[in-house]
Amino acid sequence: MAGLVVTANGRRIPWVRDRVNMWAFHIDVPQGASALELNFQYLAPVKPRQGRISNKFADLTWNSVLLYPAGYFARRIQFSPELRLPEGWKFATSLDVKSQNGNVVQFKDVPLNTLIDSPLYAGINYKRVDLSTGPDAPVYLDVFADQTEQLDITSEELEYHKNLVIQAEKLFSSRHYDRYDFLFSLSDSVGGKGLEHHQSSEDGTRANYFTDWLAGVAGRALLAHEYVHSWNGKFRRPADLWTTNFNVPMQNDLLWVYEGLTDYYGNVLTARSGLRTLEQTRDVFAGIAANFEASPGRTWRPLDDTTNQPIISAHGARPEEWASWQRGYDYYPESDLVWLDADTKIRELSNGQKSLDDFARLFFGIDNKSYVTVTYTFDDLVKILNAVQPFDWASFFRIRVYQVEAQVPEDGFTRSGYRLVYNDTESEWMKHMDRSRGISFATSLGFAVKAGGGVAQDDDDDTSDGSITGVWWNSPAFKAGMTPDMQLKAVNDQSFSLATLREAILAAEKSNAPVKLLLKRGKEYITVSLDCHGGLRYPHLERVESTPDRLDEILAPIK
Ligand SMILES: [Zn+2]
Repeated sequence: MAGLVVTANGRRIPWVRDRVNMWAFHIDVPQGASALELNFQYLAPVKPRQGRISNKFADLTWNSVLLYPAGYFARRIQFSPELRLPEGWKFATSLDVKSQNGNVVQFKDVPLNTLIDSPLYAGINYKRVDLSTGPDAPVYLDVFADQTEQLDITSEELEYHKNLVIQAEKLFSSRHYDRYDFLFSLSDSVGGKGLEHHQSSEDGTRANYFTDWLAGVAGRALLAHEYVHSWNGKFRRPADLWTTNFNVPMQNDLLWVYEGLTDYYGNVLTARSGLRTLEQTRDVFAGIAANFEASPGRTWRPLDDTTNQPIISAHGARPEEWASWQRGYDYYPESDLVWLDADTKIRELSNGQKSLDDFARLFFGIDNKSYVTVTYTFDDLVKILNAVQPFDWASFFRIRVYQVEAQVPEDGFTRSGYRLVYNDTESEWMKHMDRSRGISFATSLGFAVKAGGGVAQDDDDDTSDGSITGVWWNSPAFKAGMTPDMQLKAVNDQSFSLATLREAILAAEKSNAPVKLLLKRGKEYITVSLDCHGGLRYPHLERVESTPDRLDEILAPIK
C-alpha cells in the first residue's frame, strides 16, 4: 500500500501510523468535517516471490484495497464497492451487482464483513459451470484458465462436481448461502490457493485439472474442503475465532475442528462424489498415518499446540526445517485420523445405527438459509456428540488432541476393518503428489530428494540434481548424520539418479548389505551407510478379512 493521502472538505490532514498495530492509522478529524476522503494505491505483486501474478487473471481480495474506521462492528460498516476491469475481462464473485456500464461494475451495498468475505476473480478465459441441484440456492463453478482449452470439462468430470453439491447438501441438510461460487483458477503460473468464504471460495490448482484428470488426484479434495467450510468454519465457528472486527485478534485452539473436521469431510465427500476412487481415498488416509509414523514430533508436542502454527509462522516465514520434529500445520492431517476414529467409534457403539453424519446434521443443519454465524465451544461439541451417541467424548478428544500422545491415532483404521501396511508398490495418489518439496523416502531411508524437471516419475529419474530437501528426525538418514543442506552424488558407487536410489533400496531388501550414499556438503564429500532392509515401504491400507468394512460405508454416497 502506498500513496496514502487523507483529506476533509478539500484540505489535507496528516496521519500517523500506530506504533504497535502496523495496520492502524491515527487521524485527527477536524471540527466540522462530516466525511474523510482517503486516497491510496494497492501495489500488486510483480515478481513471483511477492505473490500470485498473471496478466490474464486477477484474484481481488478486498481487504488488500480498503481502509475502514476503527472501533465498530465490521457488520455495521457499509461499503459501496465499484470496480473498473481491464477491457474484455469477465468476473465472478458472490457479491450482487447493482449496475454495470462497460467495464465498470457497481456492486450493491455490503457490510465490511461480507465484502471481505466476498473476493472476486476476473480474467480473460472464463467459463461458468452450473452445479446447482435446483433453482433454490444455485452453485457455480467459475473457472478461469491460462488457455481456453483448459476450460473444457468432460461430462464425467461435470457429474463428479455436481455430485459434490448433492452429497454436501445431503450431509448437512442445510445451506448457508443464497448462491455459492467456487472461484476456480487453473494455472501453472499463478499458483495454487484454497481459501474459504461463506458464499464462495478462492480455489486455484494446476492448469491441467480437467485435461489430465488422473494427474490431479493428490489435490482433488480442494473444492470439497473449501465447500465444507461454508458450514464448518463460516456458519458454525469456534467462539474464539469470532471477533467483532478484523483488528481484534482471534484464538485458534479449535482449529482441529474448523480445519480438521473440514479436512476429514473434504476427503470423505471427495470419495462420495466420485472425484476420487475408494482406493485413492484409502491411500490418502494411509499416507497421512505413514507420515506421522515417520515423524516423532507428536512425542513432545500435543496436536492442539499445532493450532498456534499460523501465528508462529506468520508474516512470511518460510516452511520450517525439521518439520517431523517441531511439527507444522498438523491439525489438518492428524485430525483426519482423529475424526475417522470418532466416526468409526460412533458406528461401532451404535451397531451401525448412527455415524458422524448424524452429528453433522445436528451440528450444522440448523438455521437453514441463514448465514449468521453460530459460535460454539468444546463443551457444545461434546454435547451434540453425546446426543448422537453417549460416550465420554470429552476424554476422547482430550487424550487425542490436548495431551502428548506418542501413538499415531490409527484406531479408526482398525475399527474400519483395515491395517496400515508398507510394500514396494507406490500408489497412484503418491505418484501424483505435489513434488515441490521433493520425492519422499520418509518411510524407508528417512529423507526426501529434489524431483527432476519431468512431469511423470519415469522422465524424472535422470534430471534430479540429488539435493536433499528434507531429513526426518530420528530416521536412519538422520542417525547417519544426513542434513537437508546435502546433495546426493552417488548410490552404491553408481552416479545418483532417482532410479538408482530406488533400485538400491530394493536390493537392500534382499540382502544384508547397507545402502551406501556419497553426499556432498559445500566442498566436503561424506559417505554414509544406511542399514535399511524394509524396501521402499510405500503405505497402503490392507483389508482385515471377516471384520466389518466401515471405511467403505463411510465413503459410500448418501442415498
Ligand atoms: Zn481449510
